Amino acid sequence: MKNVDLRSDTVTQPTPAMREAMMAAPLGDDVFGDDPSVNALQDRIAALTGKEAALFMASGTQSNLCGMMAHCQRGDEYIVGQNAHTYRYEGGGAAVLGSIQPQPLAQDASGLMRLEDIAAAIKPDDPHFARTRLLCLENTWNGHPMSPAYLQQATDLARQHGLATHLDGARVFNAAVARGGDPLEALRAIVDLFDSVSVCFSKGLGAPVGSALCGSRELIDRARRWRKMVGGGLRQSGLLAAAAHHALDHHVHRLADDHALAQRLAQGLSGIEGLSVRSAQTNIVFVDVANGRGPDLLAHLQRDGVLATGLIGLRFVTHLDVDAAGIDRAIASVRAFFAQGGGAASAPVAGTAVY
Ligand SMILES: *Cc1c(COP(=O)(O)O)cnc(C)c1O
Repeated sequence: MKNVDLRSDTVTQPTPAMREAMMAAPLGDDVFGDDPSVNALQDRIAALTGKEAALFMASGTQSNLCGMMAHCQRGDEYIVGQNAHTYRYEGGGAAVLGSIQPQPLAQDASGLMRLEDIAAAIKPDDPHFARTRLLCLENTWNGHPMSPAYLQQATDLARQHGLATHLDGARVFNAAVARGGDPLEALRAIVDLFDSVSVCFSKGLGAPVGSALCGSRELIDRARRWRKMVGGGLRQSGLLAAAAHHALDHHVHRLADDHALAQRLAQGLSGIEGLSVRSAQTNIVFVDVANGRGPDLLAHLQRDGVLATGLIGLRFVTHLDVDAAGIDRAIASVRAFFAQGGGAASAPVAGTAVY
């Protein structure tokens, strides 16, 4: 039987229709600016996000990095969540390659930094300090969509202090769909508050590769130079852009199905002693496993062909390649583990692993 792979929404295979679209794409050399499929995708995602320009990137990491380097100079600083992807899960690229100092701040359980903390972290113009230049937010964060009010307040605060704003929107389409109503209108309502946004086509949208950085023309021109330097000048990348196009055509509205499956999983896992569902918003479900049994549960699930990630808190992510039957298999496997006495204590484990 096929595995039910809930490790991430990045594990999807391109659908047959997506592969066809890729094979049919007109191609050119994008370093010369000649790839019609890349150009069309960039124009389209710029229009969808209401920005002047966009740049197709090899990954979300590359997109955030080039975005931060386009916003900040050497010796500048960006304010970011302690557990934000740009700070914690991108190899420290902004600091290593951009000489941009991070100013990480604590986040609450749904990923929000306190506005007072943000205000207090903005440095005065004094040579003792790095120049605070940029606020980075992430939406969704660990599956949590940010409220319209918080997005407004945090970006207003940044603007009042002359900071630029960047949104790591790897899963911003999930955030948009979670608002209900027209997802493209919701997307605009979110990204209009930011100077730049990075979106991933390779997460819930189901493309094999690719992200886009969107922002003003000047910002995107600077980012293109950085993208070249980090090896992201691709050639016939229209092959990949075509997959992203196809994803925008066919895989946006259906993110609601992923969210419904995450709810189905959360409900199926509720009420088990030794297990608590910590959060289940959009397409990500986190559960905490008592008595240090997380790794044992993970191994048990794997024997049943159900893949997840984590140690103490396990993470399950729904996507294009899982269905209700797969979710029910996952629920049955977890229930079997606890029914067989799997909840009994073992040696505690330390650490976390979520990306
Ligand atoms: C996955 C992800 C990224 C990075 O995308 P890659 O394509 O894996 O480099 C950035 N931010 C968030 C929130 C992500 O989930």
